[in-house]
Amino acid sequence: MPYVGRFAPSPTGPLHAGSLVAALASWLDARAHGGQWLVRIEDADTPRCIPGADQFILQQLATFGLVPDAPVMWQSQRSDAYQAALNALIAKGWAYPCGCSRKEIEDAQTLMGHTRERHHAAVYPGTCRDGLNGKTARAYRLNVQRVIEDLKLATPLAWHDRLLGDQQQDVAKEVGDFVLRRADGLWAYQLAVVVDDAAQGITHIVRGADLTDNTARQILLQYSLVLPTPSYMHTPLVLGENGEKLSKQNGAEALSLSDPFNALQTAAQALGLSKLEDGASIEQALNSWTQAWATVPR
Ligand code: GLU
Repeated sequence: MPYVGRFAPSPTGPLHAGSLVAALASWLDARAHGGQWLVRIEDADTPRCIPGADQFILQQLATFGLVPDAPVMWQSQRSDAYQAALNALIAKGWAYPCGCSRKEIEDAQTLMGHTRERHHAAVYPGTCRDGLNGKTARAYRLNVQRVIEDLKLATPLAWHDRLLGDQQQDVAKEVGDFVLRRADGLWAYQLAVVVDDAAQGITHIVRGADLTDNTARQILLQYSLVLPTPSYMHTPLVLGENGEKLSKQNGAEALSLSDPFNALQTAAQALGLSKLEDGASIEQALNSWTQAWATVPR
């Protein structure tokens, strides 16, 4: 079976120990399957991007021996493709303009008795689903329930993760009508990632477990846009000393390029692979981990 995998970093800072685990896992899985490994720079959220971080990430990957098999894709150059996807959804009656401000959404939620949980985006109360009521269009949202009904999809939406096993999410209830194009005109991650995975012919997605919760939304969008659904695997997160996921936002240190072998050893251990003797080359280490990876059905 053909295999095309990918690593899709956001250039909001350099790679850190956690993102290296996701990069290494996706690379090893592609190699173990005799497949291709691609890189996509997810710079759609321009205000969060740091100039030069994209090139630095590519340089870091190369230092770790992780070199893409095809030219790198940049999301900032893909607006036309995202607009075409949004137009297709609007034409089917599955996407609608939303004129709500953040404050209006929060007030409507409070009225409905919803409380906002920590780290959870609040469910959109559906205010603009049946029309803007004189408001100006700011964002575009997916009409989740309409898609589910029109496509006769089962609720909750079920999918299989190669590592985590069977998963499910009631997208209408737990997430609601999520944003496709933001009020500031930028493309939402969910739409961009689905359009680009299809454009790059991605068959297997291997990424960090912090993204597990996005998968049902992405599968729903694949169904809506008649795009194939890749296989999914979410890899363990690396936690910082405070027990929180390592991220650029909570100040995870950039990986030092002076000792790439050591950084790779740590990433491999997080994936349950054994360390190699000091003195081995990066190439030997990657070969040995690829073989080990291939023996475990994942
Ligand atoms: N760009 C996303 C991130 O860095 C990852 C997207 C994905 O792998 O689906 O968190």
